[in-house]
Amino acid sequence: MQEEIARARSALERTFKERSDEIICSLLATCAGEHVLFLGPPGTAKSQLARSVCEAVDGNFFYYLMTRFTTPEEVFGPLSLKALQEDDFRRKIDGYLPAAHVAFLDEIFKSSSSILNSFLTILNERKFHNGREAIDVPLIAAFGASNELPDAEDNLEALYDRFLLRCVVSPIQDEDNFREMLFEDGVQGKGGVRLTVDQIREVQSNAQAVGIDDNVQRIILRARKELAQKGIVVSDRRWKKIVNVLRVAAAAAGRSRVDRSMAILLKHMAWDRPEQREYVRSLLVDLIISGGESLEKLARDAGDLHRLLLRETDRPFPYQVRCYDCNEVLGSSRILATHEKEHPGHRFFDPHRTSLSLRYMGYDHLLSVLKDEYRWDFVYNPAGKKREYQMEYRSLKERYETIAGTMAREMGQLTRQLADNVWVSDRDSSDILRQYEAQIRRTGRIGEVIRSIEIMLDRVSD
Ligand SMILES: [Zn+2]
Repeated sequence: MQEEIARARSALERTFKERSDEIICSLLATCAGEHVLFLGPPGTAKSQLARSVCEAVDGNFFYYLMTRFTTPEEVFGPLSLKALQEDDFRRKIDGYLPAAHVAFLDEIFKSSSSILNSFLTILNERKFHNGREAIDVPLIAAFGASNELPDAEDNLEALYDRFLLRCVVSPIQDEDNFREMLFEDGVQGKGGVRLTVDQIREVQSNAQAVGIDDNVQRIILRARKELAQKGIVVSDRRWKKIVNVLRVAAAAAGRSRVDRSMAILLKHMAWDRPEQREYVRSLLVDLIISGGESLEKLARDAGDLHRLLLRETDRPFPYQVRCYDCNEVLGSSRILATHEKEHPGHRFFDPHRTSLSLRYMGYDHLLSVLKDEYRWDFVYNPAGKKREYQMEYRSLKERYETIAGTMAREMGQLTRQLADNVWVSDRDSSDILRQYEAQIRRTGRIGEVIRSIEIMLDRVSD
């Protein structure tokens, strides 16, 4: 099936410029049996795109442009007069939504409450209450389009929630693409690809056997935490569906496991409001590169502990210590530590010493003199928190080593996984690889901070 998807994708990408994300979402939703929502201003070819994807599926297709006045008859079919005579409110559903494999509901949030409940049942349970009978509907995927999100008071949150995959469709950005779209009417690239309903069902059943790489599990767990901290809450039910979509993506691409190149697909599913999208995407890129540890968070945590230790270990000296080699005044432990790091081997000067040979000394000697003769503890450690700091340091170091190890080892692997992943857009793929180098440099800087935490902790008394 991988080939069909790749062909369908490239044919659609030829027709619809700058719509890779939307195309990937549509094909993926279709394979996974999920619903996809297009959000965007009028005139962004949402309808044509959804139609073209629907046409690639060999099954019944239902389209409707919803208005506030749309009646159940128009969507679910007219009442059967014969059934009415028997007091049964049954509809003739052939050619309507309850008989469709793929449906496109334009302006979906205009649906009135007389339609909404049946919509929800169809989208969610794949059932339709036809008169006295609840029937199974063959629906694989529904496409919804809207210019904007529903208002909170519209009671449409439940409907919005049914769309696991979401795309914001923006006007075409690139001048050349725009010109081509305007004036070159021809490249109708359907490519003759047809996905059959049987093929789709087969992929879905193969997906159940697909395993999930450890780093993908880490990516998901970490993403969930980070998102929650930003107030982006994804329900447990949604997470379950997301994991299922990843499995289907792997199965459809002919793979037996979900690898981390697939994790970028979360960017279509793990946000609630359009303004959260950029954050979600950059978080995912970060997590994919580091194999599930957030570099952002590691940097933050290391910085916090470093600053804390600097504060705690900074204590003024009982007398004026000077550097013998450059005559700088070193007023406190922090200043001394920094000086020693920058100028290893410099000697320090104690003016109270009478014997000239003992007036300057090395760093360690100075510390022991301070401690033994002046009862000055190098470290101000009031709460005896060393163990706590050490634990935190060890966990930081472990996280750092996981990240640095993964990143150094697995760049080649990720490059390959991205290259032959039909579900990743060229933009995402090149973005991830471009940021890889930068993230390696950044990891190196975090390593420096962690090493200096270690040095400081050595100096903290027990
Ligand atoms: Zn010096």
